[in-house]
Amino acid sequence: MTTKKDLYIRPNIAQLEPYSTARDEYKGGDMSIWLDANESPYDNGVNRYPDPHQKALKQQIAELKGVAPNQIFIGNGSDEAIDLCFRIFCEPGRDNVVSISPTYGMYSVAAAINNIAVREVPLAEADYGLSTSSLLAAADEHTRLLWVCSPNNPTGNAFSLSQLEELAEKFDGVLVVDEAYADFSSEKSMLTVLGDHPNVVVLQTLSKAWGMAGLRLGLAFASPRIAELFARVKYPYNVNAPTQQEVAHRLQTEPHDAHVAEVCAEREWLSEQLSALPCVERVFPSDANFLLVKVTDPDGLYARLVEKGIIVRNRNRVKGCEGCLRITVGTPEQNRVVVRVVGER
Ligand SMILES: *Cc1c(COP(=O)(O)O)cnc(C)c1O
Repeated sequence: MTTKKDLYIRPNIAQLEPYSTARDEYKGGDMSIWLDANESPYDNGVNRYPDPHQKALKQQIAELKGVAPNQIFIGNGSDEAIDLCFRIFCEPGRDNVVSISPTYGMYSVAAAINNIAVREVPLAEADYGLSTSSLLAAADEHTRLLWVCSPNNPTGNAFSLSQLEELAEKFDGVLVVDEAYADFSSEKSMLTVLGDHPNVVVLQTLSKAWGMAGLRLGLAFASPRIAELFARVKYPYNVNAPTQQEVAHRLQTEPHDAHVAEVCAEREWLSEQLSALPCVERVFPSDANFLLVKVTDPDGLYARLVEKGIIVRNRNRVKGCEGCLRITVGTPEQNRVVVRVVGER
C-alpha cells in the first residue's frame, strides 16, 4: 500500500470553534424548567429546539447499518452532505475534485457554488464501466475529493467493491461513494469495509428505498474524525424535530424490504418488456430503482409519454447518455401503462 499524506482539511475548518448551542452547555440530570434558549414556554409540540446531535436517531441508524453512532452524519438530504464535503476539504478557487461522467448533477452544482473545479472522467462507452487508473491519473496535488456514485445515477450500474477499495487505497484525498440506490443493488455496500478506510465517506439517503423523500433526510458515514468535522460545520439545528420523530417511527414501520423486493422484481420485468419493443435500442442493466433506456426517438417518445401524463427523465442531452430516457420503476400498474405507451411507437 502507498503511504499517504495526512488528510487535507481546510485550515479555517480545522481551527473552527463551532457554535455552541444552549443545550450543549448543560450536561446534567433531569431538568424540567427550560429557560436557556429563549424559546416559547407554551407547549405546542414544536416550541423547543430539536436535538442538534440527533442522538436518538443516530443510535437507531447505527443499529440498522452496523456502524457506531460517532461514524454518522445526518443531514437535510444528501445535498447537505455533498455541500459539506466541499466546504470541509476544498479550498475555493484553488482545489479541484475528480468525478465519473455521466453522474449525479449535484456534485458539479455544489462544486460550482463552492468555486471548485470538477475534472470529469468518462465511463466506458460500451458498458459504463469505471477505469480506476484513469480516475487516479486525473488527480493532482490539489485534488481533494473523488466522487463515485454506485449504483450510478443515471446509468444504473454499480461498481465492484474491489474497484472502490482500490480507489480508496490509492487516492490521496477523500473518496466519496454515493450509495443513494444501494438498497436495490446486489453489490456489497462500502459500509461493510468502512473501518478499513479512514479516507472514505459513504452517502446514503432515506429518499429512495425508504420512501421518505419528502422528509429530507440524508446520511453520511465515515471515520469518527471525519464525522466530527461534518458535525462542526453543519447548521446546529439542521434536522427539524418533526423529521427526527417521524423518521424514527418510520424506520420501524415502513415495509422497506417488501417494497425493495417488489421494485427489484418489477425492474427486471420492465427491462424485459421494454427490451422487446421496436423503438427500444437498449435497456442498460440496473442495480437501482430506475432504468436507462436507449430509444430511436428520445425527444418524440418523451413528448408522447407527457401527453399520456407520464413524466420520465429525458437524458438525451447528457453527455454519454445520448438517445436515452431514465425511467423510474413504479408500481406494477404504472409500469404496465409505461410499457403500453412505449409499445405504441
Ligand atoms: C436521489 C439521489 C440522492 C438523494 O438526495 P437527497 O438529497 O437525500 O434526497 C443522492 N444521490 C444520488 C445519486 C441520487 O440520485
